[in-house]
Amino acid sequence: MDTDTRYPLKGSCNCGDIRYEVTAPFVAQIACHCMQCQKHTQSAFSLVGALRAGDFTITAGTPAKWTKTADSGNRIDCYFCARCGNRIYHHNPQQPQLIRLKLGTLEDNRVINPAMHIWTECKQPWYQIPEGVPSYPQQPPAKS
Ligand SMILES: [Zn+2]
Ligand SMILES: [Zn+2]
Repeated sequence: MDTDTRYPLKGSCNCGDIRYEVTAPFVAQIACHCMQCQKHTQSAFSLVGALRAGDFTITAGTPAKWTKTADSGNRIDCYFCARCGNRIYHHNPQQPQLIRLKLGTLEDNRVINPAMHIWTECKQPWYQIPEGVPSYPQQPPAKS
């Protein structure tokens, strides 16, 4: 674990129009292998950092938004850069206190370390989940 992490963490979209800061550690880091994440990341899975809304600030630009309906029926607002198309974060209006940041947009990738893999039933076959990291075929059971 990287102990030199300094806050705020900074991040931006590909073109730099959208910039943001994260002022506290992530509540959780998750790799999501669902088909929607494969599509929007154009990759094998998305890296998502859950953090409290109060610990996240957009410092430049205004992200554009589209709203998707998840398989669960939840409506999720997806924020992205209108110029370069880079996805920045997701926000569920039913959970206003939580931001789901796309970790690949961080400047310093040493803080990225997903502790859980979800929707592995959709996982691309070439990718092996690291040993000892919990994984779930779909959404993990809600914490009680
Ligand atoms: Zn951009
Ligand atoms: Zn996903």
